[in-house]
Parts: sequence; C-alpha cells; structure tokens
Amino acid sequence: MTLYRAQVLDVPRNPFQGGELRADSDCGLLVTGGAITERGAFAAVRARHPDEPVCDLRPGLLLSGLVDTHVHFPQMRAIGALGMPLLEWLERYALPEEARLADVGYARAVAGEFVTALADAGTTTALVFGAHFAPAVDVLFEAAAARGLRVTSGLVVGDRHLRPELHTTPQRAYDEGRALVGRWHGTGHNRYAVTPRFSLSCTDDLLASCAALHEEVAGSWLTTHLNENRAEIDQVRELFGGGYLDSYDRHGLVGPHSVFAHNVHPADIELKLLAARGASVAHCPTSNAALGSGLFPLGRHLAHGVDVALGSDVGAGAGFSLFKEALQAYFIQRLSGADGVPLTAVHLLYLATGAGADALGLSDQIGDLSAGKQFDAVWLSPPPGSALAVGLTHAANPDDALSKVFALATPADVRAVWVAGTRVADKGVAISEMRKSDTV
Ligand SMILES: [Zn+2]
Repeated sequence: MTLYRAQVLDVPRNPFQGGELRADSDCGLLVTGGAITERGAFAAVRARHPDEPVCDLRPGLLLSGLVDTHVHFPQMRAIGALGMPLLEWLERYALPEEARLADVGYARAVAGEFVTALADAGTTTALVFGAHFAPAVDVLFEAAAARGLRVTSGLVVGDRHLRPELHTTPQRAYDEGRALVGRWHGTGHNRYAVTPRFSLSCTDDLLASCAALHEEVAGSWLTTHLNENRAEIDQVRELFGGGYLDSYDRHGLVGPHSVFAHNVHPADIELKLLAARGASVAHCPTSNAALGSGLFPLGRHLAHGVDVALGSDVGAGAGFSLFKEALQAYFIQRLSGADGVPLTAVHLLYLATGAGADALGLSDQIGDLSAGKQFDAVWLSPPPGSALAVGLTHAANPDDALSKVFALATPADVRAVWVAGTRVADKGVAISEMRKSDTV
C-alpha cells in the first residue's frame, strides 16, 4: 500500500450534464494493488493508516490519467507536415511513412518512441490506430505491455486506393486479425480494435470481414475515420452511393464499441444514428486545423446526444499533449460563432479523461480518481519560475488553476505518470527523491 498526498483535481461526472470539478487541496489517496482503496482529506486517511509509506506529490497537481481516443502509431515520425489537405497529406506524407513499417526492426524502433511519447505526455490509455503489417502491430502491443500503458489497437486494413504494399484482402485481414487477437486481446492492459482505415480504402467485402471479426471477439473495439474532409466525403459517396456513416452501418459496424475519428461534417441523420447506437466520436482539433478539415460541430453532437472524447490524431495532429489538444478544442469552439460551445477548463479536463474512458468502455476503472478506480494518474509539477508554476502559485481558485493548466501545460510539466499504481514515466524523478512525510 502507498498513500499519495497531493492537490487533486478531477471530474467524476460529465460536466455537459451537470457534473462539476472536484478539487481537494490536501487529498490522501490510499493505493492498494493498483487501485484507489480510500480517498479523503490527507489527515484523516493518514490517521487511519499511520504506518504506510507516503508519496508526497506537492507542490503541483494530480490529475487522472489522460485518455487519447485517436492516435496513429506509424505516424510518430510524420508529425509536422503542414500545408496540405487530408488526401494529399496521406499520399505524399503519411502513407509512405506507414509503408516503412513493413520492416519490423523499423516498426520496433517507432513503437518504442511512440509509447514513450504517450507516457511522457501523461497519456495512460489510448485507442491506437495500428499498422498495416501484423508484425508491426505485434511490436506495438509488446512495447505497450512493457511500458504498462492501456492500449486498445489492431491491424489497420484497406484493400483499395492506398499504396499497393498497404493493401490486404478480406480473408487475410480476418486471419491476421484473428491471430493478433489470440496473441494480445485481454493480455495485460491490451485489447483488440478492428480497424478499417476508412471506407474510402475498403471494399464492402473487406468491411464485411471486419464485421465478422468484431462480432466474434467479445470485448473488441471498432475504430475508423468518418466525415473528416469534404473531398473525402464526396469520394465515399461516389463509391458507396450513400452517406459516409451508412458505408459502415450497412455492415453492422456502428455500435456502443465503435469510436469514429473526426466527424467534422456530419449530416443530422448520421448524428441521430450515432446517438441511437451509443457510438462515440473522437474529436481531433489540432489535426482538423492543421489539415484545414473544418470546425468541429460540438454543439450539434451534444444536442443529438453523441458522446465526444479527444484524440491527438498524431501525425496529422500537432503532438501527443492532450492539454494542447483540449486547448485547441476550446479555440475551435471560440471560432465557431453562434454555433460554438463555450467550453470551460472543467469541460476540457473531462474531454481529456472521463469522456475517453467512457468512449472506451473503461469508466468503471479509470477517468477520475475516485475510490474504487485504478490509480492512473498524472503529476503535473512545472519547473519553478516557469509561466505555469507562476500561474498555479497565483491561481485564484481551483477552476482558475485548471484554466492555467490548459493554457500552459506541456509534457515538460508532467513529472510522473502511473497506470494501475505502476510508474510508466518518471522523467528522472526517483521515488526516493520524493519527500516522505510521516507526520500530518
Ligand atoms: Zn486519424
């Protein structure tokens, strides 16, 4: 058992439905076997457990682990290509890089860089677009397991309109997916996600094979892209003769275990269907801005009751930090005129934590730091004298402190990260360097 002492900020209930910030300035979290077994005022928890070691996480803030619901492992080295719309960016930049993952040694190096970048940014759980090559997906799961992150991922499949070396067949996609499921689904924190790249690159036969695998594998997830860019949407309509979401729905791929990335240009009928099926949308605002995809209609999603979480969409997105991603979500709404949703820092924290947990069906385990949940946590402790350190010192109240976090925090301010009580990023901070307080 370890007793953590910290200023804790979390959002146990959805603030779009009345939930509020929970702020405990001197909180005690007793962690046993990776789970939070007691939470309360530090003095009270300490009095009940006078002999447990104390890990003192002051000064700074302790937040629930961040959840990234859309990020591409093979695009780690493709971050930062600016100036192109989606389809040109894919052809000129992203897909050539994805093709390099045919070399498993290359893929292993990228996987190591990828899980390090996630953990260093405070991301403890991610729904990850894997690679088009099964051995590359193996090394991703290996790296995630070695690091201790919660990763849901799978083989990305397409059988048209990509580079030929990225193409598969419906049977091969099914067989390779099935084998990956056998090796990784349910091992440690890993889970399998059936991952058609997008319907533009998938025949009906391939989507049918995806549906067969998703149906067969209990607890599998389904993730893909939807309504990202107008030229893409027009091409999907030409190929399938209907709406974008319908190209998935006709194969039974729209359900409560489905997460669709982007949905920047949805029709109302699509929002209705997403809500009726309990499917979620991963909003990726830095990617939407970088590719010029458009302004995400958050208000229409909320009005229809569609659950929305955040995704970094690396490598079209501008990095792994969900603090930056959330800030960009706020900017996008500010720029959306009368349609914009006025977001507060509490909304942003929820979008980066509880909303993602919900989209991934993990809200019974993660998403906030309540007793009974896993100790997945991020310790933000900015360097003394930095703008964030100054801001936190002079914050008027916890809401103000949280606003400063989203305005200013970067991965450099993340000092330590835990998943299920195990440190997954330590930034050179040894536990023994932390102050142990034996007295209240
Ligand atoms: Zn994407």
